[in-house]
Amino acid sequence: MKDERQRVAEAISKYLGVAEMAKRKAETETPGVGAEFGGSVRRTDTDEERRGRPAGAKSVTRDVVHVALPTCKKCGSTERDAYRLVVERAAPGVTREGLEYTHVCHRRTRCQACGQHRVEIHYERRVA
Ligand SMILES: [Zn+2]
Repeated sequence: MKDERQRVAEAISKYLGVAEMAKRKAETETPGVGAEFGGSVRRTDTDEERRGRPAGAKSVTRDVVHVALPTCKKCGSTERDAYRLVVERAAPGVTREGLEYTHVCHRRTRCQACGQHRVEIHYERRVA
């Protein structure tokens, strides 16, 4: 009987420990890359010990793809206000260049140089 009680107590303290860690993690989270348009990439302080390549894992060289900077059609400036009214939809189709996509993202912004409002349309092909 005593063993049973001890096991329950250990299970509860283990559970509370997990809950406390989750709470601490949530408190230390800071908005990550792409947060301004609802991105989900987050960095946490508690991830410190998990950073880097695990022992024995092969290193991988990743390709870097540069995405063109959106420019104002009117004046050519790349300076813009923060995005607003970001709408993302699963809407499959084909771009003018003949590339298939699965999602379309519309982002409204305004040119800071000349004040021209514009909608930036981004196409993505997601496989999930
Ligand atoms: Zn402009």
